[in-house]
Amino acid sequence: MKVTVLVGGVGGAKFLLGVQKLLSLGRFGEADAAAHELTAVVNVGDDAWMHGVRICPDLDTCMYTLGGGVDPERGWGHRDETWHAMEELARYGMQPDWFGLGDRDLATHLVRTQALRGGYPLTEVTAALCDRWQPGARLLPVTDDSCETHVVITDPADDTQRAIHFQEWWVRYRAEVPTHGFGFVGAEKASATPQVLSAIADADIVLLAPSNPVVSIGAILAIPGVRAALRSTPAPVVGYSPIIAGKPLRGMADTCLSVIGLESSSHAVGQHYGSRSGTGILDYWLVHEGEQTADEPAGITVRSAPLLMTDPAATAEMVRVGLDVAGVSP
Ligand code: GDP
Repeated sequence: MKVTVLVGGVGGAKFLLGVQKLLSLGRFGEADAAAHELTAVVNVGDDAWMHGVRICPDLDTCMYTLGGGVDPERGWGHRDETWHAMEELARYGMQPDWFGLGDRDLATHLVRTQALRGGYPLTEVTAALCDRWQPGARLLPVTDDSCETHVVITDPADDTQRAIHFQEWWVRYRAEVPTHGFGFVGAEKASATPQVLSAIADADIVLLAPSNPVVSIGAILAIPGVRAALRSTPAPVVGYSPIIAGKPLRGMADTCLSVIGLESSSHAVGQHYGSRSGTGILDYWLVHEGEQTADEPAGITVRSAPLLMTDPAATAEMVRVGLDVAGVSP
């Protein structure tokens, strides 16, 4: 079976572990478990240049998590990390000083940057990095073009409006500045890679991880070609709500939703994605148990299930419900 999943970073990576657990892939794999193929279409809107190296936070979070190298406390970055390079950069007074770059992590960025500068597309560079990590899934950046998420804020320092990179908004300001909108800079010239388009077109099922609907899944959907591929694939498309009891489980998805004028509820996010029978992208929408309302988003079949990704087994169960509701069995 071919499973294609749209993902961001930490939430997306946890979800992928659940898919792997269900399908006996990656670290849950048995010797003869070649029956299934897992492809992750990964957000690149968070990508940035920092200190001369290219950072791809969501790709790396997925790669380290599935490859068994992620820091278990933070949920991102390398385990057993040290921070000497950052300390030295601070002594030189280098900016930005608000973005953590671990020493081990830096090696990944150096390898990637050299390969990108050598002219290799991000898709190939990611595959080469994955040779080391063996994540047990194909990790595909949604595009090889640059398309970064920027955020329009009122700068607290001088009360003027300006656009800053998503990382500055998220990491430096913790999303706690007056915020007016998001822009996917470069989207108009970007395109989804052929690998991404065929992963969606040829899948047996497409899943939307419970990743941030605005700056993870939203940034993926902003890449020309993705939405049309989702709308035309013969595979059922199943989405998972990241909102439980009106709150995201982690991160600032509620702030992101309010910036684009949506309330923080599973229903609002389902409606925002919309149904494929209308102008949207979903056939099925999974919400947390107890959150199903009589008022379902038009054209989408809603099902409730425990959606807490407490461990890979619980997440696998949540993936299984999604496959069941769509009538797809591994
Ligand atoms: P990021 O790019 O690192 O912020 O990660 P993602 O965008 O992939 O995931 C962040 C989203 O995951 C947040 O909006 C959370 O609400 C959601 N999330 C995290 N843990 C859980 C969980 O256990 N269950 C559900 N349903 N959503 C979760």
